[in-house]
Amino acid sequence: MATTTVLTTESPDRWKYLNNILTRSGPYTDEAFTPGDFPKQFLADAKILVIGAGGLGCEILKNLALSGFKDIHVIDMDTIDISNLNRQFLFREADVGKSKAEVAAAFVMKRVRGVKITPFNCAIQDKDDDYYRQFKIVVCGLDSVEARRWINATLVNLVDDETLIPLIDGGTEGFKGQARVMIPTISCCYECTLDMLTPRAAVPLCTLASIPRQPAHCIEWASVIQWPKEKGDLKLDTDDPEHISWLYTQALGRAKEFNIPGVTYAMTQGVVKNIIPAIASTNAIIAASCCNEALKLATTAAPYLDNYMMYTGDESIYTYTFQHEKKEECPVCGNLPQNLTVDPESTLEQLMEKLQERPETTLKKPSFRTSSKSLYLQAPKQLEEQTRPNLEKKCKELMEEGDELSISDPGMPFNLRFIISFS
Ligand SMILES: [Zn+2]
Repeated sequence: MATTTVLTTESPDRWKYLNNILTRSGPYTDEAFTPGDFPKQFLADAKILVIGAGGLGCEILKNLALSGFKDIHVIDMDTIDISNLNRQFLFREADVGKSKAEVAAAFVMKRVRGVKITPFNCAIQDKDDDYYRQFKIVVCGLDSVEARRWINATLVNLVDDETLIPLIDGGTEGFKGQARVMIPTISCCYECTLDMLTPRAAVPLCTLASIPRQPAHCIEWASVIQWPKEKGDLKLDTDDPEHISWLYTQALGRAKEFNIPGVTYAMTQGVVKNIIPAIASTNAIIAASCCNEALKLATTAAPYLDNYMMYTGDESIYTYTFQHEKKEECPVCGNLPQNLTVDPESTLEQLMEKLQERPETTLKKPSFRTSSKSLYLQAPKQLEEQTRPNLEKKCKELMEEGDELSISDPGMPFNLRFIISFS
């Protein structure tokens, strides 16, 4: 039987295995690596930020604390929901309704004595550049593309003679996941790789209303268009099986009409509740990979991941590591605008909808400018009213071939730049 001694960060036993790595050099250690106390001290001094205290975040915080990081910050704006308890193991039933960041920090600090975890129950956008500048490494365990884009652009913008903060990003979906290491301005950034994303579920209303292409379109049509039309003011309750059944029948009818196979009850539930399946073990694998990268970056004990590891566990098991390339026309870390082919006869509004469908833009409320004029501005209200008539105008009236079109959006801390050519 093991005795239950509480190990503190000062107990030599706790770090026995870590010391095996940090007290001697190996065939893969960096030239700058000095075995002994230096890497250990560096690890203890490396202030690290964890974004997200959910499925991945719980694992990441536990792993970092047990890897010897001593000064950790964690940001999460969410509170604990009862449905989190099956995998977010730092939370208990009594914690439901409390801040994820605060509960997770307190739990890990109690179990790993000597580690300091500073929690923030807020959005990452609430913190300024000076806040982010204090960290040596940022690790993300997020389920939001928007938040990842924001922190990515922020870290790229921070780069100067003294600041270069690697971003380690983990992500999972069911049995699949990925871990990646991004060194701002040196390797590719998150934005460079956005076109790898599958198109998101949010589809413009016009597609739903006119020509659905996928089963999910039929389901969204049923919930967004048919429900209010037939049920009036009755609020859709996604936990009510009768409501889901009604949507399912409607979606099935529409799918038949357009010859689209694949609509099921479970899919209906998944689409309207926006369920992303989460598997605790996949989170554990991906979080472990992210934390190993953090340890290697902080100590230079071994070369870090360059730069993308994908893990696929749903068809047997497959992992693959590759170097995703930096994009010259990346709106965040590149220098060149992208090319955009525009139908000169389409209206600005149609162009806006087309861009909103593209996975790499993820625009919510975009504003459009060319180098000489503002085509459409979402805010302030007065300018929105003034520029609104342009939405009905044809692109050929508003821009010329070779013009640079700049698009800003409240969800992005940077502008997208396009060079226009007419089709
Ligand atoms: Zn980039």
